[in-house]
Amino acid sequence: MSLRLVISESGIALSTRAEEQIRADIVEAGRRLYARGFVASNDGNISARLDGQRLVTTPKSVSKGFMTPDMMVVVDYEGKKLSGDRDPSSELPMHLEIYRNRPDVNGVVHAHPPTATGFAVAGIPLTRAVLAEVVTTLGSIPIAEYGTPSTAELPEAVRKYIKAHDGMLLANHGAVTCGNSVMSAHFKMETIEHFAKISLVARLLGREHLLSREEVGRLQGLRGTYGIAAPAPICADPEPGALTPDPSCQTVFAPEAPGERLVPDTSVASGSPAIGNDGEIRLTYAQLTELIDEAVKQIVKT
Ligand SMILES: [Zn+2]
Repeated sequence: MSLRLVISESGIALSTRAEEQIRADIVEAGRRLYARGFVASNDGNISARLDGQRLVTTPKSVSKGFMTPDMMVVVDYEGKKLSGDRDPSSELPMHLEIYRNRPDVNGVVHAHPPTATGFAVAGIPLTRAVLAEVVTTLGSIPIAEYGTPSTAELPEAVRKYIKAHDGMLLANHGAVTCGNSVMSAHFKMETIEHFAKISLVARLLGREHLLSREEVGRLQGLRGTYGIAAPAPICADPEPGALTPDPSCQTVFAPEAPGERLVPDTSVASGSPAIGNDGEIRLTYAQLTELIDEAVKQIVKT
Protein backbone atom coordinates (compact mmCIF):
# COMPACT_ATOMS: atom_id res chain seq x y z
CA MET A 1 0.00 0.00 0.00
CA SER A 2 1.48 3.34 -0.97
CA LEU A 3 1.52 6.19 1.51
CA ARG A 4 1.90 9.88 0.99
CA LEU A 5 2.03 12.90 3.20
CA VAL A 6 -0.10 15.92 2.40
CA ILE A 7 0.02 19.24 4.20
CA SER A 8 -3.41 20.81 4.50
CA GLU A 9 -4.15 24.50 4.11
CA SER A 10 -4.35 24.79 7.87
CA GLY A 11 -0.82 23.44 8.09
CA ILE A 12 -1.90 20.16 9.68
CA ALA A 13 -0.04 17.15 8.38
CA LEU A 14 -2.46 14.56 7.08
CA SER A 15 -1.06 11.10 6.50
CA THR A 16 -3.45 9.85 3.84
CA ARG A 17 -3.51 6.68 1.86
CA ALA A 18 -3.39 6.85 -1.88
CA GLU A 19 -6.61 8.09 -3.52
CA GLU A 20 -7.23 4.66 -5.02
CA GLN A 21 -7.26 3.08 -1.57
CA ILE A 22 -9.62 5.76 -0.22
CA ARG A 23 -12.03 5.18 -3.13
CA ALA A 24 -11.85 1.43 -2.45
CA ASP A 25 -12.62 2.05 1.25
CA ILE A 26 -15.69 4.13 0.33
CA VAL A 27 -16.92 1.31 -1.92
CA GLU A 28 -16.36 -1.21 0.89
CA ALA A 29 -18.10 0.96 3.50
CA GLY A 30 -21.05 1.36 1.10
CA ARG A 31 -21.29 -2.41 0.65
CA ARG A 32 -21.32 -2.92 4.40
CA LEU A 33 -23.98 -0.25 4.97
CA TYR A 34 -26.17 -1.89 2.33
CA ALA A 35 -25.54 -5.45 3.56
CA ARG A 36 -26.48 -4.49 7.12
CA GLY A 37 -29.66 -2.74 6.00
CA PHE A 38 -28.40 0.65 7.18
CA VAL A 39 -29.47 2.16 3.83
CA ALA A 40 -32.25 1.40 1.36
CA SER A 41 -32.51 2.32 -2.29
CA ASN A 42 -30.13 5.26 -2.90
CA ASP A 43 -30.00 6.45 0.72
CA GLY A 44 -26.86 7.49 2.54
CA ASN A 45 -23.60 9.11 1.53
CA ILE A 46 -19.91 8.73 2.35
CA SER A 47 -16.94 11.05 1.93
CA ALA A 48 -13.22 11.21 2.69
CA ARG A 49 -10.55 13.89 2.83
CA LEU A 50 -7.98 13.57 0.06
CA ASP A 51 -5.86 16.55 1.07
CA GLY A 52 -6.18 20.16 2.17
CA GLN A 53 -7.94 21.20 -1.03
CA ARG A 54 -10.00 18.18 -2.09
CA LEU A 55 -12.31 15.53 -0.81
CA VAL A 56 -13.90 12.54 -2.53
CA THR A 57 -17.57 11.66 -2.08
CA THR A 58 -20.25 9.28 -3.25
CA PRO A 59 -22.41 10.40 -6.18
CA LYS A 60 -26.14 11.08 -5.90
CA SER A 61 -28.75 8.51 -6.89
CA VAL A 62 -26.75 5.30 -6.60
CA SER A 63 -27.23 2.34 -4.28
CA LYS A 64 -24.37 2.27 -1.80
CA GLY A 65 -24.26 -1.50 -2.15
CA PHE A 66 -23.23 -1.50 -5.79
CA MET A 67 -20.71 1.31 -6.24
CA THR A 68 -17.39 1.15 -8.07
CA PRO A 69 -14.34 3.37 -7.37
CA ASP A 70 -14.69 5.25 -10.69
CA MET A 71 -18.19 6.51 -9.67
CA MET A 72 -16.77 8.83 -6.99
CA VAL A 73 -16.80 12.62 -7.29
CA VAL A 74 -13.91 14.87 -6.27
CA VAL A 75 -14.96 18.26 -4.89
CA ASP A 76 -13.30 21.16 -3.09
CA TYR A 77 -14.26 22.34 0.40
CA GLU A 78 -16.82 24.75 -1.03
CA GLY A 79 -18.58 21.81 -2.69
CA LYS A 80 -17.46 22.68 -6.23
CA LYS A 81 -17.01 19.62 -8.42
CA LEU A 82 -13.43 19.15 -9.61
CA SER A 83 -13.70 15.77 -11.35
CA GLY A 84 -16.02 12.82 -11.87
CA ASP A 85 -18.74 11.83 -14.32
CA ARG A 86 -21.55 12.21 -11.80
CA ASP A 87 -22.83 14.86 -9.41
CA PRO A 88 -22.13 14.68 -5.67
CA SER A 89 -24.78 13.79 -3.11
CA SER A 90 -27.20 16.56 -2.18
CA GLU A 91 -26.14 16.02 1.45
CA LEU A 92 -22.58 17.12 0.66
CA PRO A 93 -23.01 20.42 2.61
CA MET A 94 -23.46 18.39 5.83
CA HIS A 95 -20.16 16.60 5.15
CA LEU A 96 -18.41 19.90 4.37
CA GLU A 97 -19.67 21.36 7.63
CA ILE A 98 -18.13 18.45 9.54
CA TYR A 99 -14.72 18.78 7.81
CA ARG A 100 -14.73 22.54 8.43
CA ASN A 101 -15.35 22.05 12.16
CA ARG A 102 -13.14 19.01 12.67
CA PRO A 103 -9.62 19.18 11.21
CA ASP A 104 -8.96 15.76 12.78
CA VAL A 105 -11.68 14.10 10.68
CA ASN A 106 -10.78 12.29 7.45
CA GLY A 107 -14.01 10.36 6.81
CA VAL A 108 -17.78 10.92 7.18
CA VAL A 109 -20.62 8.40 6.88
CA HIS A 110 -24.34 9.19 6.76
CA ALA A 111 -26.96 6.41 6.82
CA HIS A 112 -30.43 5.51 8.07
CA PRO A 113 -29.86 2.46 10.33
CA PRO A 114 -33.39 1.39 11.33
CA THR A 115 -33.13 1.03 15.11
CA ALA A 116 -31.04 4.16 15.67
CA THR A 117 -33.29 6.07 13.29
CA GLY A 118 -36.28 4.81 15.31
CA PHE A 119 -34.76 6.51 18.36
CA ALA A 120 -34.23 9.64 16.24
CA VAL A 121 -37.90 9.55 15.19
CA ALA A 122 -39.05 8.99 18.77
CA GLY A 123 -36.90 11.91 19.93
CA ILE A 124 -34.97 9.69 22.36
CA PRO A 125 -31.20 10.40 22.38
CA LEU A 126 -28.72 7.60 23.13
CA THR A 127 -27.26 9.45 26.09
CA ARG A 128 -27.68 6.99 28.96
CA ALA A 129 -24.52 5.55 30.48
CA VAL A 130 -25.28 1.86 30.00
CA LEU A 131 -22.47 0.32 27.94
CA ALA A 132 -18.89 0.91 29.04
CA GLU A 133 -17.44 0.57 25.54
CA VAL A 134 -19.85 3.09 24.07
CA VAL A 135 -19.22 5.58 26.89
CA THR A 136 -15.45 5.17 26.43
CA THR A 137 -15.49 5.57 22.65
CA LEU A 138 -18.42 7.72 21.51
CA GLY A 139 -19.38 9.15 24.91
CA SER A 140 -22.94 10.15 24.15
CA ILE A 141 -25.03 10.22 20.97
CA PRO A 142 -27.28 13.30 20.95
CA ILE A 143 -30.00 14.14 18.44
CA ALA A 144 -29.42 17.06 16.08
CA GLU A 145 -32.58 19.08 15.49
CA TYR A 146 -34.68 18.26 12.48
CA GLY A 147 -33.61 19.90 9.25
CA THR A 148 -35.09 19.41 5.82
CA PRO A 149 -32.75 17.05 3.92
CA SER A 150 -30.62 18.65 1.19
CA THR A 151 -31.08 22.16 2.65
CA ALA A 152 -28.81 24.38 4.75
CA GLU A 153 -30.87 23.40 7.80
CA LEU A 154 -29.14 20.03 8.11
CA PRO A 155 -25.52 21.33 8.30
CA GLU A 156 -26.81 24.01 10.68
CA ALA A 157 -28.29 21.33 12.98
CA VAL A 158 -25.15 19.18 12.84
CA ARG A 159 -22.85 22.14 13.64
CA LYS A 160 -24.20 22.36 17.19
CA TYR A 161 -22.85 18.95 18.25
CA ILE A 162 -20.08 18.02 15.82
CA LYS A 163 -17.25 19.72 17.69
CA ALA A 164 -17.77 17.42 20.69
CA HIS A 165 -19.22 14.28 19.11
CA ASP A 166 -18.07 11.68 16.58
CA GLY A 167 -21.63 10.49 16.00
CA MET A 168 -25.16 11.82 16.35
CA LEU A 169 -28.72 11.01 15.43
CA LEU A 170 -30.53 13.31 13.02
CA ALA A 171 -34.12 13.92 14.14
CA ASN A 172 -36.64 12.08 11.94
CA HIS A 173 -33.90 11.21 9.47
CA GLY A 174 -30.95 8.98 10.40
CA ALA A 175 -27.43 9.24 11.79
CA VAL A 176 -24.04 10.66 10.87
CA THR A 177 -20.58 9.63 12.07
CA CYS A 178 -17.03 10.80 11.47
CA GLY A 179 -13.54 9.47 12.16
CA ASN A 180 -9.91 9.63 11.19
CA SER A 181 -10.70 7.41 8.20
CA VAL A 182 -13.74 6.24 6.23
CA MET A 183 -13.70 2.84 7.91
CA SER A 184 -13.39 4.42 11.36
CA ALA A 185 -16.51 6.50 10.62
CA HIS A 186 -18.24 3.34 9.33
CA PHE A 187 -17.47 1.34 12.47
CA LYS A 188 -18.88 4.15 14.60
CA MET A 189 -22.11 3.87 12.60
CA GLU A 190 -22.12 0.13 13.40
CA THR A 191 -21.59 0.93 17.09
CA ILE A 192 -24.51 3.38 17.13
CA GLU A 193 -26.90 0.88 15.58
CA HIS A 194 -25.68 -1.94 17.86
CA PHE A 195 -26.11 0.32 20.91
CA ALA A 196 -29.59 1.34 19.75
CA LYS A 197 -30.61 -2.33 19.41
CA ILE A 198 -29.33 -3.19 22.89
CA SER A 199 -31.05 -0.12 24.37
CA LEU A 200 -34.30 -1.08 22.69
CA VAL A 201 -34.16 -4.64 24.05
CA ALA A 202 -33.39 -3.40 27.60
CA ARG A 203 -36.33 -0.98 27.39
CA LEU A 204 -38.62 -3.73 26.11
CA LEU A 205 -37.53 -5.83 29.08
CA GLY A 206 -38.66 -2.96 31.28
CA ARG A 207 -35.52 -1.76 33.04
CA GLU A 208 -32.02 -0.46 32.63
CA HIS A 209 -29.14 -0.48 35.06
CA LEU A 210 -27.04 2.64 34.59
CA LEU A 211 -23.32 3.07 35.08
CA SER A 212 -22.77 5.29 38.12
CA ARG A 213 -21.24 8.73 37.80
CA GLU A 214 -18.14 7.38 39.57
CA GLU A 215 -17.81 4.50 37.06
CA VAL A 216 -18.13 6.96 34.18
CA GLY A 217 -15.19 8.84 35.75
CA ARG A 218 -13.15 5.62 35.62
CA LEU A 219 -14.06 5.12 31.97
CA GLN A 220 -12.97 8.67 31.24
CA GLY A 221 -9.59 7.70 32.72
CA LEU A 222 -9.40 4.65 30.44
CA ARG A 223 -9.49 6.94 27.43
CA GLY A 224 -6.14 8.29 28.54
CA THR A 225 -4.75 4.84 29.39
CA TYR A 226 -5.64 3.34 26.01
CA GLY A 227 -5.08 6.47 23.94
CA ILE A 228 -8.70 6.70 22.78
CA ALA A 229 -9.04 9.94 20.84
CA ALA A 230 -12.22 11.89 21.60
CA PRO A 231 -13.12 15.44 20.64
CA ALA A 232 -14.52 16.35 24.09
CA PRO A 233 -14.66 15.00 27.67
CA ILE A 234 -17.49 12.86 28.99
CA CYS A 235 -19.65 14.81 31.43
CA ALA A 236 -21.69 12.59 33.73
CA ASP A 237 -24.97 14.27 34.59
CA PRO A 238 -26.47 13.04 37.87
CA GLU A 239 -29.89 14.31 36.84
CA PRO A 240 -32.00 12.63 34.16
CA GLY A 241 -30.45 14.07 31.03
CA ALA A 242 -31.85 17.12 29.35
CA LEU A 243 -33.09 16.84 25.80
CA THR A 244 -30.61 19.52 24.84
CA PRO A 245 -27.36 18.59 26.59
CA ASP A 246 -24.31 20.86 26.71
CA PRO A 247 -22.98 20.73 23.13
CA SER A 248 -19.39 21.23 24.29
CA CYS A 249 -19.47 18.06 26.35
CA GLN A 250 -20.37 14.40 25.80
CA THR A 251 -23.16 14.44 28.36
CA VAL A 252 -24.35 11.06 29.67
CA PHE A 253 -27.03 10.34 32.25
CA ALA A 254 -25.22 8.59 35.12
CA PRO A 255 -26.57 8.92 38.68
CA GLU A 256 -24.28 9.64 41.60
CA ALA A 257 -23.79 6.49 43.70
CA PRO A 258 -20.56 6.45 45.75
CA GLY A 259 -19.15 2.93 46.00
CA GLU A 260 -21.48 1.56 43.33
CA ARG A 261 -20.71 0.80 39.71
CA LEU A 262 -24.24 0.02 38.55
CA VAL A 263 -27.40 1.83 39.63
CA PRO A 264 -30.98 0.63 39.01
CA ASP A 265 -32.75 3.21 36.88
CA THR A 266 -35.18 4.73 39.32
CA SER A 267 -37.01 6.51 36.52
CA VAL A 268 -38.40 3.10 35.50
CA ALA A 269 -40.36 2.18 38.63
CA SER A 270 -42.28 -1.10 38.50
CA GLY A 271 -45.48 -0.17 40.35
CA SER A 272 -46.50 3.07 38.70
CA PRO A 273 -46.23 4.79 35.37
CA ALA A 274 -42.71 6.19 34.95
CA ILE A 275 -41.46 9.22 33.15
CA GLY A 276 -38.13 8.52 31.46
CA ASN A 277 -35.25 10.97 31.34
CA ASP A 278 -36.29 11.79 27.80
CA GLY A 279 -39.86 12.69 28.71
CA GLU A 280 -41.48 9.44 27.56
CA ILE A 281 -44.14 7.89 29.82
CA ARG A 282 -43.82 4.14 30.31
CA LEU A 283 -46.82 1.97 31.20
CA THR A 284 -47.10 -1.76 31.70
CA TYR A 285 -49.87 -3.63 29.87
CA ALA A 286 -51.84 -3.92 33.15
CA GLN A 287 -51.49 -0.18 33.82
CA LEU A 288 -52.66 0.66 30.32
CA THR A 289 -55.75 -1.57 30.51
CA GLU A 290 -56.57 -0.14 33.94
CA LEU A 291 -56.41 3.39 32.51
CA ILE A 292 -58.64 2.43 29.57
CA ASP A 293 -61.14 0.75 31.95
CA GLU A 294 -61.26 3.90 34.07
CA ALA A 295 -61.78 6.09 31.02
CA VAL A 296 -64.60 3.86 29.74
CA LYS A 297 -66.28 3.96 33.17
CA GLN A 298 -66.11 7.75 33.19
CA ILE A 299 -67.65 7.92 29.72
CA VAL A 300 -70.47 5.50 30.71
CA LYS A 301 -71.22 7.57 33.83
CA THR A 302 -71.66 10.82 31.88
ZN1 LIG B 1 -30.27 10.82 4.76
